[in-house]
Amino acid sequence: MDLLVDTMCGGIVAYCRLCGHDTVFAADEELEADDEIRALVEADNRTLITRDRELGHSVSDALVLEHRDTQRQLEAIAVAGIDLTPTAVPRYCGRCNGSLECVGDDQQLPDYVPAEFAGSIWRCVDCHQHFWKGSHWDRMTETLEEIRQRVSE
Ligand SMILES: [Zn+2]
Repeated sequence: MDLLVDTMCGGIVAYCRLCGHDTVFAADEELEADDEIRALVEADNRTLITRDRELGHSVSDALVLEHRDTQRQLEAIAVAGIDLTPTAVPRYCGRCNGSLECVGDDQQLPDYVPAEFAGSIWRCVDCHQHFWKGSHWDRMTETLEEIRQRVSE
């Protein structure tokens, strides 16, 4: 899905991207005025995720979240039917929402990639951040699994 996440819901952004949703974060784009947010929702056909009830009710497609807590917000998103299953191959950069490309074996890696890591590594075409399925990916995946389980019970 194509999402626009409002400033007050920043904790969920990386999770949505991990699950293959094209997720614009309002704070990254410096979208502050309701009019600017409304314009992008309509122009891109995005689903707005916000805690601002008034704003949510003024666009055609919005999910209004009640909670501040990231886990509770993710639960509400799952309940609303937005799939929170991580994609096998990551598609969007968790940092900037750019597209990811697979890094070949012959290419140089930045120092923050563990040298012993043997699996696939991806790089953002926009900000050049590298991603791999390490402990951070495992933790996020586990969190999402717990949430999907809670919601399905
Ligand atoms: Zn990026």
